[in-house]
Amino acid sequence: MSVLPEVLASNASYAAGFDKGALPMPPGRRFAILTCMDARLDPAKYAGLSEGDAHVIRNAGGRASDDAIRSLVISYKLLGTREWFVIHHTNCGMEFFTDEVIRGVLASSLETAALGADGFYDVGRGPGSNEANYIDWLTIKDATQSVVDDVVRIRNHPLVPGRIPIYGYTYDVATGRLIEIADATKAGLPL
Ligand SMILES: [Zn+2]
Repeated sequence: MSVLPEVLASNASYAAGFDKGALPMPPGRRFAILTCMDARLDPAKYAGLSEGDAHVIRNAGGRASDDAIRSLVISYKLLGTREWFVIHHTNCGMEFFTDEVIRGVLASSLETAALGADGFYDVGRGPGSNEANYIDWLTIKDATQSVVDDVVRIRNHPLVPGRIPIYGYTYDVATGRLIEIADATKAGLPL
């Protein structure tokens, strides 16, 4: 069964009571959040956002990939955000594999892998593809250091102006709390 009918039904009731049609394009509260796509994270709830408030950029891990930086640069340069957050989280799936592991399971098959005591392993029918060898999967070895690394990368990027503060946090999936990573916030201080 596809989830499609459920999503369309939810959208119909959302649209029936919709009153946000006149919002301006630039985010009203002038900030952006880079965070993980993990289904347990709801930035609108954990950071108190309504439609039109802020940019939320999400990818696997909430990593400062080239594409995340592309979005952040558009966010301030064209749409006026003034403060940025990098928010990773506890128990992130990106801690459970390495480039070598995902390359291995994708080379074996394209079907969903299984997660056992020793990590992910492939159970699908091949063929797979070696294209995974050409992707940097930006996995996470240390969930605190990854926040620091990403804030440092954004801070030092030549297209990012020094006056934007970048805050580094971990979201705790067990409590819903944001925990500051002091070294990240320090690295993200305005220049
Ligand atoms: Zn994650």
